[in-house]
Amino acid sequence: MKRLRSLPLAPLVLRGVEAFVFRWPVKTPVRTSFGTMRDRPAVFVRATDVDGHIGWGEIWCNFPAVGAEHRARLLASVMAPLLEATEFTGPQQVFAHLSERTAVLALQSGEPGPMAQVIAGIDLALWDLCARRAGLPLWRFLGGESGRIGVYASGINPDQPEAMALAKRDEGYTAFKLKIGFGAERDIANLEAMRLAVGPDAALMVDANQGWSLAQAIEMSARLERFNLGWLEEPLRADRPWSEWQQLKQHTRIPLAGGENVAGLDAFDTALAAQVLGVVQPDAAKWGGISSCWPVIERSLAAGLRFCPHYLGAGIGLLASGHLLAAAGGDGWLEVDANENPLRSTLCGPISGVWNGQVDLGEAPGIGIAPDLAALRAAYPVLD
Ligand SMILES: [Mg+2]
Repeated sequence: MKRLRSLPLAPLVLRGVEAFVFRWPVKTPVRTSFGTMRDRPAVFVRATDVDGHIGWGEIWCNFPAVGAEHRARLLASVMAPLLEATEFTGPQQVFAHLSERTAVLALQSGEPGPMAQVIAGIDLALWDLCARRAGLPLWRFLGGESGRIGVYASGINPDQPEAMALAKRDEGYTAFKLKIGFGAERDIANLEAMRLAVGPDAALMVDANQGWSLAQAIEMSARLERFNLGWLEEPLRADRPWSEWQQLKQHTRIPLAGGENVAGLDAFDTALAAQVLGVVQPDAAKWGGISSCWPVIERSLAAGLRFCPHYLGAGIGLLASGHLLAAAGGDGWLEVDANENPLRSTLCGPISGVWNGQVDLGEAPGIGIAPDLAALRAAYPVLD
């Protein structure tokens, strides 16, 4: 059984944490079975310690896209004051401190999600800071053995998906994930076109984005069987009982994937105990950061499951997710959004250089890059 190392202690006294919002108005809207993204927001977090060391993180803010500024304000008004003039043993203690001190507020406001996302983004920034301070790439600081990871092209729209898949194959990708849940005939036609385009050996996966009832999922999974899929992601709503997922699992050989809409160690333990997921997909910028995703990953790997980090934001969080995957090891792949978004592609360093389905995160300290705020402000003016 694979056991992960404990996360390192890294004492921290912070001068401050700040959040910065940017938006890119998309040319081609990103369609999912539950809605369409017409602009791509990003909330970057900068943490600074008393010695001037800096780290960068990112807060999940995809849906609804108008919520990005709200998360930045939560960081500034709620979280930042809780970090002043305190010495912490490391990011894990900061995570626990922020979670505990805002637990009642999260209930009272009805906003446990945004609170958890802000804490996750701070956590990513703090781990980056600690790794940079140590002069090590984040994957190595967390105890990883290699900076090389597998990646897959994700978020492929239902409109002519084969064209996008071929474009991504030309960039070096060998694995592709299609959005489904747009009606059986369209989904099947798209998969036929995708399989024909990329050939029988390429890895193909599908994401229904919680779009089906149990009956629909059972019917569709049977029709998907012949496409030799790597996994079927979120066929059911994340709030459906795991007994429904168990029923679905009895009807299909396709591995089931989920985790991006699971939050909390207890919730992940319940999910793992149900023994339905073959692929576990926590989003470190949405819940848990590195500090609390780490035990989820450990328990997943110990159960023989694949850890494939969910991620569909900008470049900073993508890099953090890649380093987390590299540190944890296993045979999982990093999700890389296939859609145009310069906030990702200009800020994801070596992840833009895919070769034969893999990237090498390299040896630069931390996540390896730091955003140029002045250049970003000029390129992506924020209306506020
Ligand atoms: Mg998904």
